[in-house]
Amino acid sequence: MEYHPARWWSPGENQSVRCHLCPRRCLIAPGKRGYCGVRQNKAGKLFSLVYGTPAAMHNDPIEKKPLYHFLPGTQVFSVGTLGCNLGCLFCQNDTLSNTEPREEMDFRYFTPQDLVELALKYKSRSIAYTYNEPTVFAEYAVETARLAHEAGLKNIFVTNGFITIEAAKEIYPLIDAANFDMKGFSEEFYSSMCQGKLASVLESIKYFHSLGKHLELTNLVIPGKNDSPELIDAYLDWVAKNLGAAVPLHFSAYHPAFRFRSAPPTPPALLRQIAMRVVERGFHHVHLGNI
Ligand code: SF4
Repeated sequence: MEYHPARWWSPGENQSVRCHLCPRRCLIAPGKRGYCGVRQNKAGKLFSLVYGTPAAMHNDPIEKKPLYHFLPGTQVFSVGTLGCNLGCLFCQNDTLSNTEPREEMDFRYFTPQDLVELALKYKSRSIAYTYNEPTVFAEYAVETARLAHEAGLKNIFVTNGFITIEAAKEIYPLIDAANFDMKGFSEEFYSSMCQGKLASVLESIKYFHSLGKHLELTNLVIPGKNDSPELIDAYLDWVAKNLGAAVPLHFSAYHPAFRFRSAPPTPPALLRQIAMRVVERGFHHVHLGNI
C-alpha cells in the first residue's frame, strides 16, 4: 500500500486534518481514515492510499461508460481504484467501492505515465476515471489527466458529482467529458439511501456544465424509491432549466445488490414509460441501460 501526499486538506487541532475534497469534509484524527476509506491522516498530514494502485483497468467501448455522444465508436482506457465517498445502499459495484486498501493487499504500482502509455498501446482515444468514484483518487486522476492531454488523449469522469467546488475547480478543467450519476431527485433519497446531499451534486453538475464540457446524466431507477412521476418531472424541470434539453439522459435498470435488495429489478416497461415522458418533455436524447 502506498502513502501519497494528498491535496485539498487543512491542518486541525491535535494533529487532526480536515479533508476538503468532497462535501463530507471529514475531520480525521491521526492514524485514522476518512469516510471514503482511502485517505489517511499520518502524523498530522493527509495521504492518499490509492495513488498509483488501480484496482481495475480495462479498455472499454465508450458507450459502456455510458457516453453516447462523445467520441462514439471509440475505445476508452478505463481505470478505477478502491473507495467511495457516498454510501449508496444499492451500490452496484460494492466490491471496489466498499473495500478499503489493506497492508496485506498486493497492488502493482502504475504511474500516471504508465496509464497513458497503456491507453496509447491499446489505441484508446481517451482515459476514463471510473468503476469507483474518481473524486476519491483525484490526485492520481489529475496527474494522469495532464499527461493524457499532452499525449493527445481526452479525459472522462464517470462520477457521482459529490465534490467540493474548490476541488472541482482544479480537477474539472482537465476533464473533457463526464457522465454524472444522479441517484434520485430528492434530498430525502440522497440522505436515506446514499448518505449524501443532492444540493452539492447539482452544484458540481452546474459547474461542470458552465465550463462548456460534454455532459451526460445517468439515473439508476429503483422501483418504488426514486421512480415517481413527480420526482422524474422535478428532475426534468431542473435539467431543462439548468442544462438545457440537449443534454443526453440515461435511465438504467437497478438489480438488487449490496445492502438494498427489497425492491424488484426495474421492469423494462417502467424505463420505457420514463423515456416516453422525457421525449414528450422535448429532450433530444434519451437512452436506456442495463436491460
Ligand atoms: S474525500 Fe474522503 S476523506 Fe475527503 S471529505 Fe470526502 S469522504 Fe472524507
